[in-house]
Amino acid sequence: MGAAAAHVLVFPMPLQGHINVMLHLATALAAAAGVHVTFLHTDHNLRRLGNAAAATTAGSPRRLRFLSVPDGLPDDHPRSASDVPVMVDSLLGAGQAAYRALLGSLLVGSGGAGGSPPVTSVVADALLTFAIDVAEELGVPALAFRTASASSLLAYMSVPRLFELGELPFPPGGDLDEPVRGVPGMEGFLRRRDLPSTFRRHGNDHDVHPKLQMLVDLTTGSCKARAVILNTAASLEAPALAHIAPRVRDVFAVGPLHAMSPAPAAATSLWREDDGCMAWLDGQADRSVVYVSLGSLTVISPEQFTEFLSGLVAAGHPFLWVLRPDMVTARLQHADLQEAVAAAAGHSKARVVRWAPQRDVLRHRAVGCFLTHAGWNSTLEAAVEGVPTVCWPFFVDQQINSRFVGGVWGTGLDMKDACDAAVVARMVREAMESGEIRATAQALAEKVRRDVADGGSSATEFKRLVGFLQELAT
Ligand code: UDP
Repeated sequence: MGAAAAHVLVFPMPLQGHINVMLHLATALAAAAGVHVTFLHTDHNLRRLGNAAAATTAGSPRRLRFLSVPDGLPDDHPRSASDVPVMVDSLLGAGQAAYRALLGSLLVGSGGAGGSPPVTSVVADALLTFAIDVAEELGVPALAFRTASASSLLAYMSVPRLFELGELPFPPGGDLDEPVRGVPGMEGFLRRRDLPSTFRRHGNDHDVHPKLQMLVDLTTGSCKARAVILNTAASLEAPALAHIAPRVRDVFAVGPLHAMSPAPAAATSLWREDDGCMAWLDGQADRSVVYVSLGSLTVISPEQFTEFLSGLVAAGHPFLWVLRPDMVTARLQHADLQEAVAAAAGHSKARVVRWAPQRDVLRHRAVGCFLTHAGWNSTLEAAVEGVPTVCWPFFVDQQINSRFVGGVWGTGLDMKDACDAAVVARMVREAMESGEIRATAQALAEKVRRDVADGGSSATEFKRLVGFLQELAT
């Protein structure tokens, strides 16, 4: 008798960075023999991506299909970067109920040509702990997928120890450059300012701040899952992985997934990519352009926009800047931003887009460095291409990621907490011109590519993950 088919339900947070990487995971799983995958979007995102159509066309892998649940918000809600807390709350309500009903219905397979076997496991975003709990209640084994770095996971796991040692809460007005004890393996280089941004919040007296407590609870909840999957590689975070392993039931380090899995056949971009910037890059000299993107969620003030702009102009290199329409606070329209950039830098030296095909941009020969918010996907995408980075971390895990870039891997510079034109100019120039940083970035890229190549640590872990999911189906 043949082995039962595994059917994995993959459920990401409905945010760009989470969808990107979990769709890579889904695509890679669906390419493995005998594995079916259902990818769960929100209704809103599925409409926006048009993946329902993609799933039924020849372009989509046969064993990958898309379904959706409501996120509970009205159709005309903007769902902009500053609305994330509202979206999460709403998903916890309406989304949770719909997910339970849907999962219940998927426990029975569907026949016919486009049919699929019953769902045998769930891989849920680690921030959607309800999806893990509901699955287990319905008798479906659930794994947690953490889209952030292993080091940030370890930092959240270490919060009780940090309180025991008196490292938390940080004393009000205390020096953020003080070293931190208590996060295993990071005692030589971790400073207060490098811990995820929520660690800087103070609770009443010695209590944990509710926001930090919520993230710690999510960590604890997701780490109870059958296994934790991380989009990271041994050459990037082996020490953190070694400290996490004994504290979870199993851990799979299978990243960077975008470099390992085939490109998803279905759309992943919630915004329309401006491909015109690729032609603009074609017209630029090798390694002459600074690519600037602060990801899908960062919101900056008009003053910060001006500091970045002045710094970029002073650095003297052409630049390509992603300015999402919802990115700068106050009433500044996208056209105003574009005009301000053109006025300061000149049309030929700067290009502004609303959204770029980032992985193609980073791969382009004209790109010399990447000014990034150090989101984990962006950090990995730069690492794989060996592009030096200048990091201006905004929130959550970005503070710790940028410490790895600047203080551990040496593949870039960390301008954390400074948003100052002079710092931008100095760091961009150094990242563009330092042979040492580029050589270190290229050397790390080689190692990461070996991790994802056949026989490498991530590729081997991925095979073990497929076996684990198949085992759960028997
Ligand atoms: N991205 C993109 N085009 C852009 C800006 C970002 O395709 O113009 C992608 C980027 O390649 C990455 C994701 O959006 O995969 C952002 O994820 P990350 O974890 O870096 O940051 P977040 O948006 O979650 O803060």
